[in-house]
Amino acid sequence: MKSGDIITCPHCGERTVVKTMKKFSGWQITGEVLACALCSAELGAPEKAASGSAARDRLAALLGGDDTEHVTLAPGEEHRRGCRNCIHLLEHPFKLLCGRTRREVEPMHVCPEFQDREKKEEKAK
Ligand SMILES: [Zn+2]
Repeated sequence: MKSGDIITCPHCGERTVVKTMKKFSGWQITGEVLACALCSAELGAPEKAASGSAARDRLAALLGGDDTEHVTLAPGEEHRRGCRNCIHLLEHPFKLLCGRTRREVEPMHVCPEFQDREKKEEKAK
């Protein structure tokens, strides 16, 4: 049973919709219970499997595999090309300067002298 299910309530005998009710202890919410929308009788605890990681696991199973294989959204090397990742970039509070030309540059500008800053750092190690 879950919130939104249509059932015949064992308490009032009417066909009703299951709703989720917050349980209070004083002013504190202590949990949730399923309840009859008509008479508000408690119908039990909500299924834990319907939310969180269990649902995600089920979805993964549905898609034919575990979710150990994560899709990498890291863009390719081409995407790194641009003055923002260039070794020549000089960061200035209000603008980006190219240390080679001493001119202002756009972060996405791709110039023939582009050298990847991170690659250089890797080589230095
Ligand atoms: Zn009822």
